[in-house]
Amino acid sequence: MSDFAHSLDRDGPDERRPTASRRIPLAQPDLGVNEEAYVLEALRSGWITSRGKFVDRFEREFADAVGSAGALAVCNGTSALYLAMLGLGIGPGDEVLVPSLSFVATANAVRFAGAEPVFVDIDPATWCIDPQALAAAITPRTRAILAVHLYGHPADMDAINVIAAQHGLFVVEDAAEAFGATYKGRPVGALGDVGVFSFYGNKILTAGEGGAVTAADPRLLARMRLLRGQGMDPDRQYFYPVIGHNFRPTNIACALLCAQLERAPTMLSRRRQIFALYRKGLAGIAGIGRQPVTPDARQSPWLFSMTIDAVVFGMSRDALMARLAALGIETRPFFIPSHQLPPYLDAATRQGAKLPVTDRVAASGINLPTFTTLPDAAIAEICAAIRKLASRGEAALQLSA
Ligand SMILES: *Cc1c(COP(=O)(O)O)cnc(C)c1O
Repeated sequence: MSDFAHSLDRDGPDERRPTASRRIPLAQPDLGVNEEAYVLEALRSGWITSRGKFVDRFEREFADAVGSAGALAVCNGTSALYLAMLGLGIGPGDEVLVPSLSFVATANAVRFAGAEPVFVDIDPATWCIDPQALAAAITPRTRAILAVHLYGHPADMDAINVIAAQHGLFVVEDAAEAFGATYKGRPVGALGDVGVFSFYGNKILTAGEGGAVTAADPRLLARMRLLRGQGMDPDRQYFYPVIGHNFRPTNIACALLCAQLERAPTMLSRRRQIFALYRKGLAGIAGIGRQPVTPDARQSPWLFSMTIDAVVFGMSRDALMARLAALGIETRPFFIPSHQLPPYLDAATRQGAKLPVTDRVAASGINLPTFTTLPDAAIAEICAAIRKLASRGEAALQLSA
């Protein structure tokens, strides 16, 4: 139905302009018949705000999908993270343990709440926050662990929950990239106190912009609901016991999400196929490393991720990305670790943050195009291009040796 013209480049100068470097974009939404039908239904009903039936329906169905007692739809994932912090009462003077290798919204949410993110290294076995490194980062001010299921791989939640219980900490899961992932057979998002999801245009389920929080504790859910809706007393109009935000979603967005959720199994299985095709197509190329998958994890196939060992591969990560862009293949470097970004540099220095695994993985990582409508032929083309560049690199190294 759609073509490759609508690349979802969050940071690009013009996210809708097709360019030669985006003949095969990194991501693209998959919008089907019911997405259109439900959005039309929402429009025709006249209910386009958050007071529409698709909001309740989505919250119920999403909670079921992740095996959580309750869910709240939120206007985007970043606000959902912030809502989680506020819901747990995290504020000034508090510290929250976070991985530095994440989308910047993870650390930002802690700062929005007035608390301080404390950066912890990642585990090479998962690329998620390292449970072994957590204990050393805990201080009397630590209130919570904010674990990110990076690139769809679940963090080691049992180990994290044990440490949290020992020290009386809350556990928040940033599952923005991980809808559909399971840890020891249990879906992510229901493994801590609060689960957070994003439905941005390049995520596994999308409403263009959107998010959700999940929680089992009814009081916590009620508090987050209050804070999501201006802080208004549910039983008394225009009475505000607390200062709240407006983090509500629209009925239109939730209409889209209801349809996306119906197709989630099909979309996830196509993404799993794409991951398998990439693994096969890239097998045996020297210098390419893969995101490990632990035996107790079922990764959610968000963006296919790999690392480049520049010496062995014969070309740096950035050079490879430039060569692929020249062929019309859009890729993405891994997130720049938050502790290296200007808002967090000073704090990270004060913390004495030493994050060697984070630094190494971040500097060598690359995401390849991953979306359900990506044809097999495009994956074959991408793998062939990488293979060709690798052998050329090897030849160049041999010549210079
Ligand atoms: C996408 C993402 C977010 C933010 O979600 P938005 O809906 O874009 O605000 C937060 N954390 C992680 C890890 C993400 O990938």
